[in-house]
Amino acid sequence: MSQKNKSRPAPWEAGLPLGGVDSHAHLDMPGAFAESVPETLERARKAGLARVGNVFLGPKAYADNVRLFDGQPDVFFLLGIHPGDAAKAVPGDLAAMEQAFRADARLAAIGEIGLDFYWDAAPRDVQAQLFADQLALAKELGKPVAVHCRDAYDETMAILADAGYRDRPLLWHCFGGDETQAREILSHGWTISIPGPVTYAKNAALRQAAAAIDLTRLLLETDCPYLAPEPYRGKRNEPAYLVFTALAVAALKNLDPAVVWRTTGDNARRFFGV
Ligand SMILES: [Zn+2]
Repeated sequence: MSQKNKSRPAPWEAGLPLGGVDSHAHLDMPGAFAESVPETLERARKAGLARVGNVFLGPKAYADNVRLFDGQPDVFFLLGIHPGDAAKAVPGDLAAMEQAFRADARLAAIGEIGLDFYWDAAPRDVQAQLFADQLALAKELGKPVAVHCRDAYDETMAILADAGYRDRPLLWHCFGGDETQAREILSHGWTISIPGPVTYAKNAALRQAAAAIDLTRLLLETDCPYLAPEPYRGKRNEPAYLVFTALAVAALKNLDPAVVWRTTGDNARRFFGV
C-alpha cells in the first residue's frame, strides 16, 4: 500500500452499524467489478451496508449478468433502459423487461430511466418516448421508478406530469440540483437520492439542498463505479464508500451519522420493498 493510500480512512473505520443501503450501484458494469462481486459485497457489509441495489442497464445486461448475484441475498435489482441507450433499444426490449419482472422477485424497481440532454447520445424525442413507455410499464407492474435526469429538468418534469406520476413512488436518482429543485421534487411526493459529490466542498448548491431535505425523504447512493466521494474522489467507487456520503450528509444536517445511516437505509427498504 502506498503512503497516499495510508492517509485515507477505510470506510469501516467509521464504525457505522449494519443497516445502510446503497440505492444505486453498477456492480455488473463491464470491467469494473465483474471479477470480484463477492469481495466487493463483503467490504460493503464490513462497512455497515445491509443492502445494495444493482442497476442493470437494459434487459440484455440483466440476462447476461444476473448470474453474478447468485447466492447474494443482500442485493436487489433495478432494471431499465438508460436514456443514453435509447437509440439502441430494440422492439421486444420492453416485453423482455416485463417478463423479467414477472419472473424474478429481486427486481424491485424500473430504472434508471429518464432524459440525458448532457450527452445527447440519442435523439431527444426518442429518449422521451422510451421514458414514457417505461413509466407506463412501471405503472402496469406496480413497481417504483428511479429517474435519471441530466440537463433536462423541465422536460423530465413535463413527461412525469403527462404520465400522471404525482404522488407515485419515484426516486430522483443521483440528485445534483439545488434546494429549489429538491423542494419541488419533494412537493410531488417523490424521494431524492444523494450521491458522492455531496462530499465535494465546492458543491455548495447540492450541499445546501442535502442539508434542507427532510431525512425521511432521503436515500443515499454510490452510482459506483462512478462518482467516488471524498476522500476517494477520482478512484473507482464501490458500495462501501457510501459511508463517506453518509458522514457528509450527517455533518451538513448536524445529525449523528448512525441516525442518517439507519434512517436512509430504512427509507430505501421501504421505497423498494426489500
Ligand atoms: Zn446509474
